[in-house]
Amino acid sequence: MGRRYYCDYCDKRLPPGLTHRKTHNKSIQHINNKRVYYLQFKDPIEMLIDERSKRICNKWTQTGSCPFGNNCKYSHRSNYDLIQLIEQTKQSSFFFIQQFCFSNIFT
Ligand SMILES: [Zn+2]
Ligand SMILES: [Zn+2]
Repeated sequence: MGRRYYCDYCDKRLPPGLTHRKTHNKSIQHINNKRVYYLQFKDPIEMLIDERSKRICNKWTQTGSCPFGNNCKYSHRSNYDLIQLIEQTKQSSFFFIQQFCFSNIFT
């Protein structure tokens, strides 16, 4: 005992003891960080499919802003943004494969 627990999601070391860990795991900060951690892998793919099915927002392309913001039913992403997303998706799936292979070798 006495080993410090390291939280990958929060990039933070916790004091030893299960109570600290439990409290930490329930904290808003940790839950948010965990969500963001998983979203960075899941999101690009889902967003890509989502954006592809939408039409480009006229207001957004003409004025550069839209009163509906993120709630707009049309896409606010330019082709450039979509290409970036595709790149991101490729990188995260590569990361996934890498993680998967390494965990198989070393465990
Ligand atoms: Zn944490
Ligand atoms: Zn819009």
